[in-house]
Amino acid sequence: MTSTSPTRTAADAPTDAAGLMDGAALARRMTDRTARRAAELTRRTGTAPCLATVLVGEDPASVTYVRMKQNRCAKAGIDSRKVALPAATTTGELVATLRGLSEDPAVHGILLQHPVGPHIDERAAFEAIAPEKDVDGVTMRSFAAMGFGLPGFVSCTPGGILRLLDAYEVELAGRRAVVVGRSPILGRPAGMLLLARDATVTYCHSRTVDLSAHLREADIVVAAVGRPEFIRGEDIKPGAVVLDAGYNPGNVGDVDFAGARARARLITPVPGGVGPMTIALLLEQTVDAAEAQLGAGAPVSG
Ligand code: NAP
Repeated sequence: MTSTSPTRTAADAPTDAAGLMDGAALARRMTDRTARRAAELTRRTGTAPCLATVLVGEDPASVTYVRMKQNRCAKAGIDSRKVALPAATTTGELVATLRGLSEDPAVHGILLQHPVGPHIDERAAFEAIAPEKDVDGVTMRSFAAMGFGLPGFVSCTPGGILRLLDAYEVELAGRRAVVVGRSPILGRPAGMLLLARDATVTYCHSRTVDLSAHLREADIVVAAVGRPEFIRGEDIKPGAVVLDAGYNPGNVGDVDFAGARARARLITPVPGGVGPMTIALLLEQTVDAAEAQLGAGAPVSG
C-alpha cells in the first residue's frame, strides 16, 4: 500500500526553473514503474491486476474520468472491468454490486466514480467496498488509517499531492499549510496527510471568516474548492508552494494561476499538475492490492 513517507524523492523531480510542479511527468514515471510491477506480477502468478470501475448514470465528466482511468489501466497492463449502472440505481442495488465485486477474487481493486446521484447514500456505497480493495482510499477504514498514520490505501488526489511535494523536496515539518476545502475525498484527507508529516494545518471552508488572512500566512496552499480561480494571486505569500486540485470547465483550476505564479516558489499547472498524479496513485495502489491478494510481491506496508 502507499506510503506517504518521502521514499521517492529527488530523482523523480523534473527541474523546472519556472517553478512549475510537473505532475504529468512525475505521473508518467510512476506509471512506468507500476507497469513493470504489473507485468512481473502477471508473469509470476498468471493473473493480471484487475480494477473494477463502477459508474452510476451518464454524467459526461464522470464518463470521461472513468474512460481515462481505464485507458491508463490498459497501458499499464492492468485489466479493468467496467460496471455501468443506470442513473436510477438505488443505494441497495449499488451496495449489492459493490459487495459482489468485493467478494470476487478476480477483482483486486474497486473504484466507485464520485459523485453518485443525490438519491444515493454515498457513504453506504463506499463502505460496501472491502478495505483490501479500496484502492481509491474512500472507506472509513482507509480514512482512519490516514488519520492515524497507519498502513492503508490513501485517497488518491491527496496522496498524489503528497508525492508531488516529496518529489520537489518541499519541507513540510513545522510549515504552515492551509487547505481550502474539506470534502471527504480531497480536502479533509489532504490536511490529515500534511498533519501526519508535521505541517501545521489549517482547514478553510465555506464558513471560514477572512480566508485571505489565512492564505497570506500559508507556506503551503492546497486548493480543493471547485470554483474557477477562486484563490487570488495577491493572497499567496511570496515563496509559498501552491497545489491546485481544482478542475473546472475549460481546464481552469481553483487558483488564479498567473497571479499566484508571480508570487509562489512552486505551483502546479492545471491541467498537468495534480490530476495525472491522482490516476498514477490509483494504478499504483491497484497493483499494491493485487500483489497483496495474490500473495506476491512486497508485503503490505504503510
Ligand atoms: P466538494 O465536495 O464540492 O467540496 C468543496 C469544498 O470547498 C467544501 O469543503 C466547501 O466548504 C469548500 N468551499 C466552497 N465554497 C467555499 C468558499 N467560498 N470558501 C472556502 N471554501 C469553500 O469538492 P471536491 O470533490 O473536494 O472537489 C474540489 C475540486 O477538486 C473540484 O474542482 C474538483 O473537480 C476537483 N477534483 C480534482 C481531482 C483531481 O484528480 N485533480 C479529484 C477530485 C476533485 P463546505 O464544506 O463548508 O461546504
